[in-house]
Amino acid sequence: MKEYESLIIGGGPSGITAALYLLRAGIKIGWVEKLAPGGQVLLTEAIDNYPGFPQGIKGYELIDKFTAHLDQFEFDKIRDEALEIKDRQDKYLVRFSESEVAARTLIICTGAQWRKLGVPGENKYSGRGVSYCAVCDGNFFRGQEVACIGGGDTALEESLYLSKLVSKIYLIHRRDAFRGARLYQDKVLKDPKIEVIYNTIATEFVGDTDLTGIKLKDVKTGSQSLLNINGAFVFIGLDPAGGFFPADLETDSQGFIKTDHEMVTSMPGVFAAGDIRSKYCRQVSTAVGDGATAAYNAQAYLEKNF
Ligand SMILES: Cc1cc2nc3c(=O)[nH]c(=O)nc-3n(C[C@H](O)[C@H](O)[C@H](O)COP(=O)(O)OP(=O)(O)OC[C@H]3O[C@@H](n4cnc5c(N)ncnc54)[C@H](O)[C@@H]3O)c2cc1C
Repeated sequence: MKEYESLIIGGGPSGITAALYLLRAGIKIGWVEKLAPGGQVLLTEAIDNYPGFPQGIKGYELIDKFTAHLDQFEFDKIRDEALEIKDRQDKYLVRFSESEVAARTLIICTGAQWRKLGVPGENKYSGRGVSYCAVCDGNFFRGQEVACIGGGDTALEESLYLSKLVSKIYLIHRRDAFRGARLYQDKVLKDPKIEVIYNTIATEFVGDTDLTGIKLKDVKTGSQSLLNINGAFVFIGLDPAGGFFPADLETDSQGFIKTDHEMVTSMPGVFAAGDIRSKYCRQVSTAVGDGATAAYNAQAYLEKNF
């Protein structure tokens, strides 16, 4: 069985950064990615808020640059899915479908996925008007009319963020009252740019090359309508890429890994970085910062304990 000083699980921005820091420190690493390296950035049409690219950069181009940096080093790239973590006192065993590896430290960087509505047109217009992240894409809709879909804290908070940028927000909620915190509800209801459309669901995203509107259905009356907008933000939740975590790894109520500000988890020698962490701001820049911090602390842990 192969053994590593550190095994990084996940090849998005946080995993790439953790790998880079550990390789530069001379640590023997394994790097696991079930798909192609890049994570959610590969789903991103353009990244406009990562420093160094004042004109913005396409997601795949940014990842090409990230991975080119890693190409300077020789290390084991494991193209597989981590399915289980077993604790064996001074090391962890990580199981894949047909093999296992051992590592003294783990850095879990498996990220998250935005929940989709699953209606026609959603995939077609994703990155062409349909978005899941106000901080990422709000700037593209400055002065325009958008719809936000959802009724929890995230939908309310993100609508308030967007209202500083756009000219008008239709907040579409399938119930007749919000679930989100009272504080945000009050602010949303007082915001002159936000018009709430209750008891309504989005049934289809429509447009030509880019999104131009959403088909809506009133769940009480069954009546249908078309709302013309320039952008639509879907805020119905975010799922952690977990499912293989050991019971001792502490997570929040949604399944995101709890860490301290040094990326230390509840299990010794196990660190977590990026979107898989329980945290507020999920961005490339924060994932990169988490990856660097986790790697630095994994190295310190190895020096202290082995
Ligand atoms: C459409 C879209 C647009 C975005 N726009 C922006 C933007 O403009 N600016 C910005 O800063 N951020 C943006 N983001 C957010 C940003 O992409 C994420 O915050 C960032 O990619 C998180 O990095 P990560 O490394 O933590 O996780 P991820 O990027 O999610 O990478 C996790 C990786 O782990 C792999 N993995 C998962 N489970 C396993 C397993 N069990 N075994 C092996 N591998 C596994 C996955 O395949 C994936 O490659 C956007 C996200 C999306 C979806």
